[in-house]
Amino acid sequence: MRVIAIDGPAGAGKSTIARALAARLGLRYLDTGAMYRALTFAAMRRDVLDDASAVAELAARVVLHVGDDGVVVDGIDATAAIRSPEVTREVSRVAANGAVRAEMVTRQRAWAAEHGGGVIEGRDIASVVFPDAELKLYLTASPRVRAERRVAEAGGDVDEMERAIAARDEYDSSRAHSPLVQADGSHVVDTTGLGIDEVLATIEAMLVAEHAPADEGLR
Ligand code: C5P
Repeated sequence: MRVIAIDGPAGAGKSTIARALAARLGLRYLDTGAMYRALTFAAMRRDVLDDASAVAELAARVVLHVGDDGVVVDGIDATAAIRSPEVTREVSRVAANGAVRAEMVTRQRAWAAEHGGGVIEGRDIASVVFPDAELKLYLTASPRVRAERRVAEAGGDVDEMERAIAARDEYDSSRAHSPLVQADGSHVVDTTGLGIDEVLATIEAMLVAEHAPADEGLR
C-alpha cells in the first residue's frame, strides 16, 4: 500500500497539490477535510451541532461518500454545501470531538486499504492516521497568500479571510485531540510564491530522494 500524507493549515494548497500528485502517481486522492465538513453538514441538518454525544453517534452511522465526483451525505449531494461559510465556521468544533476523530480515522484507513493507498490530505494524516506513510509533507504558505488563494476560489475580503483562517488554524493547532502539527519526519514545503508545477517538482524530488539508498552520497 502506497500512502503519501499531506498536512497543513487552511489555504496552503493541499487539495490542489494532492489531486495533481495523485494523478501523476496513478493513485487515488482523499480530502479528509471534506469528511469532517460532510459530518458537520449532517449535524447541522439534524440540528445536533451543540450535542457532542449526538454528533459522535452520528459520525458512527452517517453514510458518507467523499470522492472525485463529489460529496454525498445520507443520499444528498452536499458537494457545494460543505464549502458554505456556515459549515466552514462550525467544522473545527466538530473535528475537535475525540470520538468523531476516532471514527473518521477508522474510515480513512479503511478507504486506503480498499484503494491500495492514496494521496491523503488533512491535518493529522502524518501524525496519527498514517505515521508510516511513504512520504510525509507539511504544506504551508504565508497567511496573506493563503487568504488570497481562498478569496480567489470563493470570493470575499482578503483581510477578513486572513482573520478567519488564522482563527481556524489556531483552533485546529491547539485542540486536545490530534492537533495540527508538523509530524516527525515531515518535509515542510512553503508554497508562498511557488506555482503548482514548482511545488510538484519539489515533492517529486523528495520522493526520489526517499527511495535513494542511504549511502549513495558516499559513492
Ligand atoms: O481542509 P479543510 O479546510 O476542508 O478542513 C476543514 C476542517 O476540518 C479543518 O479546519 C479541521 O478543523 C478539520 N480537519 C481535521 N483533520 C483532518 C482534516 C480536516 O481536523 N484530517
